[in-house]
Amino acid sequence: MALTAIKGFNDILPEESGRWHYIEQAARSIFELNGFSEIRVPVMEKTELFCRSIGDATDIVEKEMYTFVDKGENSVTLRPEGTAGVMRAFIEHKLYAQDPVTKLFYLGPMFRYERPQKGRYRQFHQIGAEITGVCDPLSDTQVLNMLVSFFHEIGLDEPSLQINSLGCPECRPAYRSALCLFLEERLESLCEDCKRRFGTNPLRTLDCKVPGCVEATKGAPSMLEHLCGDCNLHFDSVRHYLDLSTTPYSINPRMVRGLDYYTRTTFEVVTGLLGSQSAVAAGGRYDGLISQLGGPAIPGIGFAIGLERVALLLGQRDFTTVPDLFIATMGTGERDTAFRLMDGLLKSGVRVELDYECKSLKSQMRRADKLKARFSVVIGENEVKSGKASFKRMSDGSVTEVALIVDEIARTLKLQ
Ligand code: ATP
Ligand code: MG
Repeated sequence: MALTAIKGFNDILPEESGRWHYIEQAARSIFELNGFSEIRVPVMEKTELFCRSIGDATDIVEKEMYTFVDKGENSVTLRPEGTAGVMRAFIEHKLYAQDPVTKLFYLGPMFRYERPQKGRYRQFHQIGAEITGVCDPLSDTQVLNMLVSFFHEIGLDEPSLQINSLGCPECRPAYRSALCLFLEERLESLCEDCKRRFGTNPLRTLDCKVPGCVEATKGAPSMLEHLCGDCNLHFDSVRHYLDLSTTPYSINPRMVRGLDYYTRTTFEVVTGLLGSQSAVAAGGRYDGLISQLGGPAIPGIGFAIGLERVALLLGQRDFTTVPDLFIATMGTGERDTAFRLMDGLLKSGVRVELDYECKSLKSQMRRADKLKARFSVVIGENEVKSGKASFKRMSDGSVTEVALIVDEIARTLKLQ
């Protein structure tokens, strides 16, 4: 049987990688502008880290983790998300001792055992950012604005920002009871998963994508009506700063997140173009997480962007890079000249391709076309003798005579 990749694990082929670099570079430049530094943490952690942070009664921990026992009898898990590992490293290396405010970003693969479909895979990639050490709502808005700027920077203006507040351990229990009262009367219309969630994690029913559950939970009480005074003030302030920065957003009072550690501000960037894979980025505040993992009581807020979904939204744009010049030769006698030029031009930063196998001129030119080279040149005996050749601009066939001197060629190609 032919060996193929594991279901839900994708290859990113060369024609796709330009798109990924474009997305990653945009994120890096926006995050660095905002004072965030990259942190790289392992893709595998002790299972307990995810159970303690994400929460035992979440879809991720209940059904989606790649967990196994290693040869030393330790239960380990491929990370399903980035925040837990980053916060584990933050505590382990006492990063908070260096500066009371820490701004970190990460990027890399995440693993969840889900049903693969367009925009949903078992290995997928996230770029995420976290600020720790500040609970001021101003930092919530900076994080939101940074996320919106990222989408703007890569030219995606369709996905829109939705925000909500999930309250805090003070006010959420009363909301939970109010929601349970509401759900109790509609229990029969909920899917099997939500019937179970009713007992373990009732807020999750609001996030269920089964149409019957969406219908049954219409009109459910909203967390926003149950916020305590402090949470209310916080939410109002976040909105105030969003208005000050003229960032467009809407409030989605039904938004709950799939991870238990969130408090207060939660948000998603949503698209109408990817079916039920509508969230392209998501995040929230997690003021209790660091202490829950054994660190000091330090607040935090962050988000993760789903790169596959962003790549899908970028659509058909061409991100491949093309050679500046294709050097063809009439015969084997010109190989030395061609090689010397290629070597010199590469060293001066000109992207050059040539024919490696001494094929016919016709087949060399076919390759130049296929590679979409900007210029081509054919070197024969005459060109070697005269030290000059005709450089053809492939887009319009116009020809320029240039001396076969590396600097001359580099200068001419860069000017055109
Ligand atoms: P969804 O509701 O679509 O399952 P989620 O709430 O589980 O998303 P988060 O845990 O908040 O997602 O992850 C942040 C982002 O990572 C999502 O908004 C999405 O863009 C992306 N993402 C999450 N799971 C997957 C997956 N299985 N495949 C591809 N991208 C994913
Ligand atoms: Mg999910």
